[in-house]
Amino acid sequence: MSEELLKRAIDKWGKRSQIDMMIEECAELIIALHKCTKRVFDPADTSARINDVCEELADVQLMLNQMRLLFGPKDIDDWYVVKTERLRNLLDGKPF
Ligand SMILES: [Mg+2]
Repeated sequence: MSEELLKRAIDKWGKRSQIDMMIEECAELIIALHKCTKRVFDPADTSARINDVCEELADVQLMLNQMRLLFGPKDIDDWYVVKTERLRNLLDGKPF
């Protein structure tokens, strides 16, 4: 993903608007996931539901990449290391 493209979107619509868009895309992903899990047993419906989830995941990823620029990639990366280490400890049965 081009950082230049992400910066253009932030410059065009503004930080507050892009944060609102992040919230909106998260909500759409929540709805798509909910529909996928609740209606997955309808075979005629499954592939469309999975496609909806994939689309919303892409939307959220696009907004996450913009949020990294807005909130600071280093802080997010630092937290990611902490969270992955916590997950590793949890899976290994170690205290965290
Ligand atoms: Mg969307």
